[in-house]
Order: sequence, then structure tokens, then C-alpha cells
Amino acid sequence: MSSPEPSSLIRPLVKQLRPYVPGEQPKIRGLVKLNTNENPYPPSPKVLAAIREAVDGRMRLYPNPSADSVRAQLAKFHGCGMENLIAGNGSDELLALATRAFVEPGAPIQYLTPSYSLYPVLADIHGARRHPVPLKPDFSIPSLAELRSGGVFDFSAPLTFITTPNAPSGRGCSPDELRALCRAARGVVILDEAYVDFAAENAFSLSREMPNVLVARTFSKAYSLCFLRVGYMCGHPGLIEALHKIRDSYSVNGLGQVAAAATLRDLPYYRRNFKKIIAARERLSNELGSLGFQTFPSQTNFLLTRPPQFPARDWLAKLREKRVLVRWFSAPEVCDCLRITIGNDAEADALLRAARQILKAS
Ligand SMILES: *Cc1c(COP(=O)(O)O)cnc(C)c1O
Repeated sequence: MSSPEPSSLIRPLVKQLRPYVPGEQPKIRGLVKLNTNENPYPPSPKVLAAIREAVDGRMRLYPNPSADSVRAQLAKFHGCGMENLIAGNGSDELLALATRAFVEPGAPIQYLTPSYSLYPVLADIHGARRHPVPLKPDFSIPSLAELRSGGVFDFSAPLTFITTPNAPSGRGCSPDELRALCRAARGVVILDEAYVDFAAENAFSLSREMPNVLVARTFSKAYSLCFLRVGYMCGHPGLIEALHKIRDSYSVNGLGQVAAAATLRDLPYYRRNFKKIIAARERLSNELGSLGFQTFPSQTNFLLTRPPQFPARDWLAKLREKRVLVRWFSAPEVCDCLRITIGNDAEADALLRAARQILKAS
């Protein structure tokens, strides 16, 4: 008997999958890395000390299965109960769990476009139907009346993802607008607030007001913990319990739990960094403007900007030649733009210097 061809052992759905493509994590040293919205500042010294202190023989033990110390502190911070909270191996894990908990295969998963490009991939993985709804040309969410008359938005979709503030546009959305949308939706709405700490407003309270709203947050971007993978969701205990039922037993690693708990004990350090990043964002936006870049207003730690002279894709390559890494997306609504993470002042200066050289050489 000949052995089976591996590809014949794989589900057709999986064989056809086109996986999510994360931003490059380059091995080359000395690159100015402004492509994946990481925080330019390290975790606080107290967080690093807490992690170091936890690195010993206890590594042989399983961590707390439901990240209780993190959830207890989050409950205090947000003024909710632990039963309203689930922690995950990054918020990405929780977004994936939500597709499995709330959506029958074949049913629609709705999201606004352009937004986080993981959502359609999650729909594909689950065998759900992609249901994109276009944002307006300025990347704002159509009003409820516009969504109703447009006929594209599916108010009965079992799951709708809304990135707020949005990525890659950087645009914020008022809690009142989101409230109206969530009230009108009959399925679960996930407000993905990965960048909310850089915004003027947040919609966290909607997860407490409405039984169908979950707010997703992460320690990755604002709290400088991408490496350790911790995110969480808040919402009605009924929904949260469903997510707990289907998660892995020990989904949040032990060092991640230690780091997240220590982070919540040292929030002033992070608030200072938010201020620095917001100030750097405004400066970079202005300076890019003086070079002819058209930059969209941002409530996040990145800028979406339309570069002058050359196609955005060429800018990506030209900047990389000058050792500056930014992000370009092929989606038609944003393919004439670059997404640039707000780095520290030195990184912003390196980017501006490279852009000036590129323009001068043209
Ligand atoms: C980065 C990002 C996430 C993922 O965060 P992790 O907690 O690192 O998994 C989720 N949503 C959006 C919109 C993001 O940009």
C-alpha cells in the first residue's frame, strides 16, 4: 500500500485557505521598524522586574487557567465583574473564538472595509461567509440611516466586527454613533479597541449597556507587550461564558499573566507614553504634510498617508532601501497610501530624512 498524499488528508476548506499575512518582523538589525504598530517604548521597569522575578523553577507548573489575577485587576479597573471578562492569547485569539462561539458555518461574518484584515481570514477559517460593508470615502462609518437604506449592512448578521478607532485609516468613531449601530444590530457586535488608548473617546461602556456587545482590548500596542500575547474581552456574562467554554485550558501563558497584572499596577508610566506618542503623531503628520504627503487624521499610534510623486508601493520599496520599514496594503481603498507606525522622535526623524532624500533624488 502506498502512503497517502499529505494534501489528500487536508480538509478542502483548509487547502484553499489564504492565511493572514502579518507585517514583516525583519531579522536585519538597525532597521527603523514602523510597520506593525508596536510601541516604541519598552514595558515599565516594574513590569520587566516582575517578569524577571517570575523566571524560575515555577516554569514547570501550569499557569492559572483563567488568568484570574489579571481579570480581577481588570474588573477593578473597568468597574465590572470578573464574570464579564475573558483573557486570551492576544485579542486575536478571542476574535477567533468569537467566530466559533457565535457563528454557524455558512452564516455571515460582517465587517467594515477597509479595517483589520484578519476578519475575512477568520471567516474563511470558520467556513463562514465574508460579509464586507464599505466605509465612506473618508473612512467614517455610514450613519444608521445610510446603513439601512444602503441595503448592504446585515442587521441580522450573527457577528459584526468594528475596529474602533479604525485600522488602517486611524479614524475614530463616537460612542454615540456606535451605540446606535449596536442597538440596531440583532447579532453580536465586537468593538475591537486595540488602539483606543491613543484616542480621545472609547466605547467600553457599550459592553456594559447591551447584552450583544463585546469590547476587545489588548496589552500589545498601548502596553508594549506584543511579545507576551495578552488580550481580553468584556461583555455580558452569558457571552463571556460561551467563550470560556471553547477556549484552550491554559490560553494565557504564565509570564503574560505576570506582565499584564504588573502593567495594571503601573498605569501612570503608560499614560505618559500615550501622551508622548500622541504628540509625536501630530508632529509627524505636520512634517509629512510639509513634504507633500496627505495624511488622514488619526486617533491611533499610526498614520495613514498618501505619499507624493510615486505610487505608495514604490515608496515602500524606496523607504526600505533606506532602512525604514512601513506598511502598504493592496486593498483598493488604501493602496495609494502607506501606514506608518508612530515611533520615537529618532525614528520619526529617520523616516522624514529618508523621505526628503527620496524626493530630492526624483
Ligand atoms: C494588533 C491588533 C489586534 C491584535 O492584538 P493582539 O492582542 O496582539 O492579538 C487586534 N485588532 C486590531 C485592530 C489590531 O490592530
